[in-house]
Amino acid sequence: MTRDELDKFAEARINGAPLSDAALKKLLAIESEAELEKLYYTARKVRDHFFGNRVFLNCFIYFSTYCRNQCTFCYYNCKNKIKRYRLTRDDIEDICKVLKGAGFHMVDLTMGEDPYFYEEPERFVELVKLVKDELGLPIMISPGVMRNEILLKARANGANFFALYQETYDPELYAKLRVGQSFEGRIEARRFAKEKGYCVEDGLLTGIGNDIDSTVLSLRGMEAHKSDMVRVMTFIPQEGTPFEGQQQNSNLSELKIIAVLRLLFPDRLIPASLDLEGIDGMELRLNAGANIVTSILPPDSELEGVANYDRKLEERDRDIKSVIQRLKTMGMEPASQADFEKFLGA
Ligand code: SF4
Repeated sequence: MTRDELDKFAEARINGAPLSDAALKKLLAIESEAELEKLYYTARKVRDHFFGNRVFLNCFIYFSTYCRNQCTFCYYNCKNKIKRYRLTRDDIEDICKVLKGAGFHMVDLTMGEDPYFYEEPERFVELVKLVKDELGLPIMISPGVMRNEILLKARANGANFFALYQETYDPELYAKLRVGQSFEGRIEARRFAKEKGYCVEDGLLTGIGNDIDSTVLSLRGMEAHKSDMVRVMTFIPQEGTPFEGQQQNSNLSELKIIAVLRLLFPDRLIPASLDLEGIDGMELRLNAGANIVTSILPPDSELEGVANYDRKLEERDRDIKSVIQRLKTMGMEPASQADFEKFLGA
């Protein structure tokens, strides 16, 4: 395709022209560097139409790494004998002090399905309220599949976004990844949250059991549920898990899917996570069409990420200052809070 043709293709996506399964498969099959560059160019063109050079910044607080589930891809699954932590109210208050005025657009409160909070979910709602009172920022919650009534209480106490990743819309693969968890129950939880005024985030895992056909199935699944934020993450083999010995794939599939997500969801949020390759990886993901940086940790934090590429590294450059510096070198900048609030209210 020539530059003109790419621009016309971007224009069609901006105007909501449909993308057939065959077209999606063709895009996902691209391997040559020259063709990939064209794909990323088109994705950036679409993103820039809606968001310009402005990027949102999401702070990640993994406040409990306890979990009752046994997802085979996850380091924190209940069978893995690892050191875990659960932050106290005081710990979270202290974190809020360093986050005040730091420049985040939203704070993501994430936990495993920790029995401590599942047995008394009011404890979770209190933490949401605490962070809202302290920071006054939009809050994303990523607590797993909580009861509807708790989602409502969290919403009433300041939660705006509900993140719950399906990982795949292929039920057979799902059963291998999210062992023993309801496929429909996860979809239903997001549907309920959306109906009750939350923005919702869905996510796919790539590099473990998915091929082009199952990826298209997953993209269509996400499309059907009208998620506000759509994510893809590369599977990283985790020590002590059933998939520990699997080979790790490159980031190529993730970058391609980010670009395809941008073409399919032109005006939605698409994360560039720091959790897989740090700030260099963030740059690649933004260049593929992403527009919100996630997994930024509070300054000097020892909190965990999810995939946590830097678990064994001494230096972690996951702080907001380093992110903003890199954005500047890319000709990008943080969006305003008003832009983010506008997105939430849209
Ligand atoms: S992915 Fe989430 S629910 Fe599954 S084991 Fe890990 S922390 Fe628990």
